[in-house]
Amino acid sequence: MHSVSIKDLSLNFGSISVLKNLNIEVADGEFLVLLGPSGCGKSTLLNCIAGLLDISDGQIFIKGKNVTWEEPKDRGIGMVFQSYALYPQMTVEKNLSFGLRVAGLPAAEIQNRIAHAAEILQIGPLLQRKPAELSGGQRQRVAIGRALVRDVDVFLFDEPLSNLDAKLRSELRVEIKRLHHKLANTMIYVTHDQIEALTLADRIAVMKGGLIQQLDDPLTIYNKPRNLFVASFIGSPA
Ligand code: ADP
Ligand code: MG
Repeated sequence: MHSVSIKDLSLNFGSISVLKNLNIEVADGEFLVLLGPSGCGKSTLLNCIAGLLDISDGQIFIKGKNVTWEEPKDRGIGMVFQSYALYPQMTVEKNLSFGLRVAGLPAAEIQNRIAHAAEILQIGPLLQRKPAELSGGQRQRVAIGRALVRDVDVFLFDEPLSNLDAKLRSELRVEIKRLHHKLANTMIYVTHDQIEALTLADRIAVMKGGLIQQLDDPLTIYNKPRNLFVASFIGSPA
């Protein structure tokens, strides 16, 4: 079964067509990277999948269920943004537990999930700190933890490493890869960074101007770019 299916999806902002009749099938457990230059529609597409934007046309299925008009919270997705989006006044532990308490989970279950996420992401010693007392990398780990404790089917990442320096970026890249191997969840990951795409992805969708130029595994994209845009953007040998 496909984990996420996008069928004939279009999105217009007013009279401007931003996503143009996209069709994508993401396999269960796949790590799909949406790669393309700034302004090509990556975040817009991710926000459509998350339910944060109403689409103009088409349908979105998650785990076989048509979620096109479902609320974000009912889609079984967890989203990690570039800007962390943590609650500054709450400790890490509260940041992780907040949504679960709102959802009415029993306290013992909440504690179990937090302990599990803290172990996987190695943030146990940080649980009583506030976001201002964390480094950028630690904050991003907590942001991932917030999706993790919700036990979602699909993780959506929007340039989660773009605010970090090069060293942290490569460390967290390894960490995200490890997380994917461990959880085997479906992940859809937006970036404009070719190295990130090539190292993380099972498949890469290269986007330009609201269209998918090529959707293939990294080696194929690199060795057999379908057109000049893909070749030059990915940096394939001429
Ligand atoms: P990316 O994430 O690939 O950088 P975006 O999805 O953010 O690109 O944006 C795609 C296009 O849609 C851009 O041209 C952007 O200016 C436009 N856009 C994004 N959000 C809005 C909005 N709320 N209203 C109008 N245009 C928007
Ligand atoms: Mg973006």
